[in-house]
Amino acid sequence: MARKPTLSPSRITTFLACPSKYLWTYIDPRGKWYLRAKSYYSFGTTLHKVLERFHDEGDQGVTTVGDALRIYEESWIDAGFASAEEMQEAYGEGKEIVLSVVEDAIAKREEGVRTLAVEKLLKTDVGPFELIGRVDRLDERADGTIEIVDYKSGRSAVTEAQVKDDLAMACYQLLASRMFPGQQVVATIHALRVNAKATAFLSAAELEEFERDIIQIGQTILSASIDDYSPRLKPLCEGCDFLALCKKDPRYE
Ligand code: SF4
Repeated sequence: MARKPTLSPSRITTFLACPSKYLWTYIDPRGKWYLRAKSYYSFGTTLHKVLERFHDEGDQGVTTVGDALRIYEESWIDAGFASAEEMQEAYGEGKEIVLSVVEDAIAKREEGVRTLAVEKLLKTDVGPFELIGRVDRLDERADGTIEIVDYKSGRSAVTEAQVKDDLAMACYQLLASRMFPGQQVVATIHALRVNAKATAFLSAAELEEFERDIIQIGQTILSASIDDYSPRLKPLCEGCDFLALCKKDPRYE
């Protein structure tokens, strides 16, 4: 039997932002030749790695601020920076972020909170496709609440309303609610740059409505024809890796 297609929050948000970008990123292999390394991606990946190791309960090698800084140095990715100066500046900033976030996590460690998983791939069958998503961290609080934590390295602020309206966070809540039936699931975005967090959750009725919407969007994505991928000029084109490819298409206007 043929395997069901899979869709992740990244795929879905890419399609919603620009179907052509979806084509070049996930379907047409020519797209990969146009991808450029990005400094913000390197920076974010390094910070994620440090926090993954720090919160991994099976990893006893990273428990102090000093350990975290060592992992930061070992994990640093220097791809995508425009110059050595730009990289040094980002490196220093990242170090400050690790110091502040890890120090704070140690000082405010809550009694009874267990980290169940880090960098965990969740999936669930929603009918026409499998919804998948990789969560940065899954905690279980003392009262049994499951908390999904998503790290954002580029954001300088986060609000409860933003967490509630975030498509990826809604996907993660749907996935976690299937994995932990009967337990309250909440979602938190941790804006690392300012060490600020906001938490929100969708009610059971909101999750049901979201599931219906995501199935409909997913079906649109999976049934898209070549015309649906036509490139269209939009603000996102500026700085897009695929601009040269799209410009070759006579439909790009
Ligand atoms: S250049 Fe514009 S139309 Fe083409 S993939 Fe990028 S955002 Fe989409």
